Amino acid sequence: MKELQVLKFGGTSVGSPERFNMVAKLIVNDAPKIVVLSAVSGTTNWLVEIAAEYAKGNTNGAYLLIDKLNEQYEHFIKELYHSEATLIKGRELIHAHFEFIRSFGKKIFKVFDEKVILAQGELISTALFHYYLEEKGVRSVLLQALNFMKIDEDSEPDMQFIEENIAKELAAYPASDYPQLFITQGYICRNAFGEIDNLKRGGSDYTASLIGAAVNATEIQIWTDIDGMHNNDPRFVENTRPVAELSFDEAAELAYFGAKILHPSSIRPAKLKNIPVRLLNTMEPEAKGTFIGPKSAQPSQPIKAVAAKDGITAIKIKSGRMLLAYGFLRNVFDVFARYKTPIDMVTTSEVAVSVTIDTTEHLNAIVNELLTFGTVEVDHDQTIICIVGDFLAEKQGYASRVFDALKNIPVRMISYGGSDNNISLLIHSEKKKDALKALHKGLFQLTIDN
Ligand code: ADP
Ligand code: ASP
Ligand code: MG
Repeated sequence: MKELQVLKFGGTSVGSPERFNMVAKLIVNDAPKIVVLSAVSGTTNWLVEIAAEYAKGNTNGAYLLIDKLNEQYEHFIKELYHSEATLIKGRELIHAHFEFIRSFGKKIFKVFDEKVILAQGELISTALFHYYLEEKGVRSVLLQALNFMKIDEDSEPDMQFIEENIAKELAAYPASDYPQLFITQGYICRNAFGEIDNLKRGGSDYTASLIGAAVNATEIQIWTDIDGMHNNDPRFVENTRPVAELSFDEAAELAYFGAKILHPSSIRPAKLKNIPVRLLNTMEPEAKGTFIGPKSAQPSQPIKAVAAKDGITAIKIKSGRMLLAYGFLRNVFDVFARYKTPIDMVTTSEVAVSVTIDTTEHLNAIVNELLTFGTVEVDHDQTIICIVGDFLAEKQGYASRVFDALKNIPVRMISYGGSDNNISLLIHSEKKKDALKALHKGLFQLTIDN
């Protein structure tokens, strides 16, 4: 297969007719590529609300929301297309999708119907973009992600299926007859039962990385509304700056621990195939962004970035039997494994073990089983603060700078030494903003402020 690049454009990057034009300018060139698109920004949230109204049995509420969203798309395409022929095609497309969404009002709403409704956002954006290119005289191929993106019974990507089926799709469009400009949907997939499913919110990044790995792409580019991974969360902290380079591991830690610019799992497929990932800004294409590869450069500042992950629950198990009892931790972890509940952080002492989880789906059952080992305390509304950098190379006490910076923040758990590139701390969520700001000052602005 010819060497391909994968370029993913997020919701804001396709959020308006002008943005469609920006994306077209970035992708229309000779390099063979697969372009992964998100839904137009705001659409997935809107579809979530529509599905919620249906689930409540409030069909009229759902119809009201559908009408409003439908209207927005009518305006969108009127502005987007210039020829009458394309406008008619666009109208038909929008009409078909919204009629389909309305059709759920005429039957009993099932759990999986939500996923089908959510999938409409990406199906619409990719078709509209495909027509847009066509109107401009640019030939492209629209690939249906539902033919090749698949997850298994554990909601993990079925890599073999993805590889085989995307290869089949691409083989149907040889370079001799077709432009090697493929457009496809992010986020959506089929599950082990063939039903429409998705890769969870923000999942288009994950789609891009999975496709990149499946086709052995030369590079995966994530185009978004900011010039790369910043050294702190720009939604809560001022004066954050882009990080020029990150290793796969550093980027994976930041994504997993809350840096919204990347879906939590999106680095793994790229790392496994050693495919570089670039984070770039659609609105400022000349900005350098962030390069993610096997190793990051050694800058003078070993601490790269800080991220925060909310919605964490801490569980402390105290047991008199823990002291010197081999097998105790295994028994504790076994409970979480049986309920398929991943543990993020662990700390132990002779009399207790604390763990954190980010899903409470099976919390009651887990706690009931843990009670056979001793007493159990559960704390909700916790946040993991993750500081990523090269802590192995650091020689000047950067770890102590972390703790100095947080001297006024109550810290519930600390994890250091698990890997060479991460310190994680657990705090109450209401202290998150203060903690992120304090770390920013202590780690990145010390030289300026002193
Ligand atoms: P897209 O719709 O393109 O997928 P997202 O909204 O999912 O974009 O991700 C980009 C946003 O991530 C940024 O606008 C920013 O607010 C947020 N963000 C959170 N943490 C970081 C960070 N460390 N670096 C850059 N952006 C971040
Ligand atoms: N449209 C989906 C979402 O809003 C997927 C994505 O944008 O990555 O979550
Ligand atoms: Mg995103």
